[in-house]
Amino acid sequence: MHRFSANYIFPVSQPPIRNGVVEVDDDGVIMRVFHPGNSPKEIHSTEFYNGVIVPGFVNAHCHLELSHLRGKIPKNLGIAGFIKAITEQRGTDEEVQNHGELVERAIAGAIHEMEQTGTVAVGDISNSADTLLAKLQSDIYFHNFIEVFGLNPNEAQSIFEGYLEVYEVFKQKFCGSTSLTPHSPYSISQPLWEKISEFIGKSKELVSIHYAESAAEYQFLQDGTGPLSDRYQSAGIPFCKPQGLTPRGVVSRYVNRDCKVMLIHNTFAPAEELSWLAAIYPQTTVVTCPESNLLIEGKLPNLPEFETSGLNIAIGTDSLASSSSLSMLSQINIILQHFPQLTFSNVLQWATLNGAEALGISSTYGSLEPGKKPGLVLITGFDFRNMCATPQSLAKRLI
Ligand SMILES: [Zn+2]
Repeated sequence: MHRFSANYIFPVSQPPIRNGVVEVDDDGVIMRVFHPGNSPKEIHSTEFYNGVIVPGFVNAHCHLELSHLRGKIPKNLGIAGFIKAITEQRGTDEEVQNHGELVERAIAGAIHEMEQTGTVAVGDISNSADTLLAKLQSDIYFHNFIEVFGLNPNEAQSIFEGYLEVYEVFKQKFCGSTSLTPHSPYSISQPLWEKISEFIGKSKELVSIHYAESAAEYQFLQDGTGPLSDRYQSAGIPFCKPQGLTPRGVVSRYVNRDCKVMLIHNTFAPAEELSWLAAIYPQTTVVTCPESNLLIEGKLPNLPEFETSGLNIAIGTDSLASSSSLSMLSQINIILQHFPQLTFSNVLQWATLNGAEALGISSTYGSLEPGKKPGLVLITGFDFRNMCATPQSLAKRLI
């Protein structure tokens, strides 16, 4: 049995407790969260830390397999430019020659960074099995989203079969935590959508779809023009011109109503549009990746409006191609810096419990409650006057 205390404990499931104590067993399972009063017996053998103790972070959206692209993509390219830059980077001579080693090393380093900065669970997008071995060697919980995309309608069958192979490989090792998922409303041909739709409907998959990440997405779906169309044409990718569609129209047409849905980014979606989807899919979570949105489109989603609309919000880092680190605390700080009307407590819940609920793991992760094993994270450099983290704050795992 071990006891941890700090200036404040943030259980997330209840208000912060000043000088509270978290008691855990030898396996890290929480026994009690309490205020010790003045009892010397309760204070005895307690490790006290300066700062606040919070549950381990749940990163709801990442692409670990892009970790080797850290710092390689310029800012403000827009989504079409970003996709172009990623495609080019993935095909450079250096990349092709050293692919295995380069990617492997970067993935292992990225997972280590997650562990060091207090992340205990991750929803990770995978287009290949590059991350499989490194994930198996980590204590972090991974939900693997095997992401399908492809615009050439004539190749729908072979594209689908290719991703199904990756899915089977992950499924063998991560049985309950692997889903097949569509990439976005704008990157999938109709025949491919039909195959995905049938598969995810049958298995009631947890779906994680990039949504409303750019204005270009709305334009492309509306009339097949704009930066995405230009990008596809210049890359020689055959595609059928969409007509009069909306992102929410595409999702509601192809994603079965029994699926639990995570909508990633939502930068250009008004709250009503997301509420419309949340009414169709009862367990919808909107996931924000603030640093990535600022790098690619120079804009953040209207998070205070999402909050007042009652949407479930979770936080992801996105990949190191569009984020400078995989620290969830730095994502929290970016949100608080841009939206000072939000409180640390509130945004902390997005970064922990809401992400755990979205991934279906809240019986273990996300809050400090008896019976859970959520990990304990110490945040130092905390501003106690305003009760929030600061840019100087650091997060590290205690257990
Ligand atoms: Zn993403």
